[in-house]
Amino acid sequence: MSTVLVVNSGSSSLKYQLIEMSTESVLASGLIERIGQPGEVRDHAAAFQSMIDTFEEKGPSLTENPPVAIGHRVVHGGKRFFGPTVVTDLVKINIEDLSDLAPLHNPANLQGINAAQKVFPDIPQVAVFDTAFHATLSPAAYTYAIDAELADKYRIRRYGFHGTSHKFVSEATAEFLGRSLDSLKTIVLHLGNGASACAVDGGVSIDTSMGLTPVEGLVMGTRSGDIDPAVLIHLHRKGKLDFDDLDELLNRKSGLLGLSGRGDMRDVVGAAGDGDEAAQLALDVYLHRLKHYVGAYSAELGGVDAIVFTAGVGENSAPVRAGALAGLERLGISVDPALNEADDRGRRRISPEGSPVEVLVIPTNEELEIARQCLTVV
Ligand code: ADP
Repeated sequence: MSTVLVVNSGSSSLKYQLIEMSTESVLASGLIERIGQPGEVRDHAAAFQSMIDTFEEKGPSLTENPPVAIGHRVVHGGKRFFGPTVVTDLVKINIEDLSDLAPLHNPANLQGINAAQKVFPDIPQVAVFDTAFHATLSPAAYTYAIDAELADKYRIRRYGFHGTSHKFVSEATAEFLGRSLDSLKTIVLHLGNGASACAVDGGVSIDTSMGLTPVEGLVMGTRSGDIDPAVLIHLHRKGKLDFDDLDELLNRKSGLLGLSGRGDMRDVVGAAGDGDEAAQLALDVYLHRLKHYVGAYSAELGGVDAIVFTAGVGENSAPVRAGALAGLERLGISVDPALNEADDRGRRRISPEGSPVEVLVIPTNEELEIARQCLTVV
């Protein structure tokens, strides 16, 4: 039996899955929350130990059957990491150095790696980066039109995120359609709490909606997505908001929550249905932005074969899928209401039979993608 342990270590939580690789089945999974809070799990090392204890108690024992690799989700790989990377001291220094660009994520990811190394010093630790899939963006797509020297000095460019999901879903799309990945032009809409769109041409990411940070692009649960940067200057000058206030505003008080007081799409759709005007506006802005990116990426790709919805909202919300693509029939894009609303959970087609553009729902599986990528380097 050959297994990979996948670890997603956040600032206050540790998510894990043990995957058996010949069948790609999940043997065990869990979530440890409230790390670092008073009276709870002390730190990431303690969380890791508590995970090991759970395995020893409930099986399968990790000490008797050690995994062939431990795969770690790392959010920011900057310009340095383009693929899954076996962790060395130098790799850790680089991940630490990129913390500037992902202050909430990279330090927590690194703590997960350190905790795992302490318990399993002989098992290869592999870092799989959220940015890596977007390393193929062209300079035209990743460059912000600002002073070039400043941008270079502060490593300012578009990096993109959710790469593990976009890669998994675009490959699963080719599989589902029985077509070769090389010839497929796909738009992946990863709509979770965070949300991003990706244009994938022949398996290669050519553009994505998140940028230097995960704030850019689509409207999200609590993040604004695209905004005129001068709004921030205006709020600083006139509203006296300082940089921490602005950070808080863009990341935690905007998006669906900022517009409607509700950050969860289920609540927004429900309230809009009950006639709540703020919720209706939040939904309208969300759908408008999605459609905007579908149009932009159709143009960048020079036509599109498949539009694919994934993650919490994308997999579950029929009204969002229908709304995002409403009125696009002249582009060959339409959604069949019965297929869209069917109570189905797996990979499925929701466009009418014979439609020029396939519209699909493909559940993402970032853990499995991380585990697969681990096996390519150990
Ligand atoms: P994360 O980005 O945290 O990984 P997920 O991909 O699990 O999140 O997506 C979580 C979001 O999915 C929730 O905030 C919720 O808004 C949304 N969601 C889940 N189920 C539904 C549903 N049936 N209808 C609309 N939205 C849903």
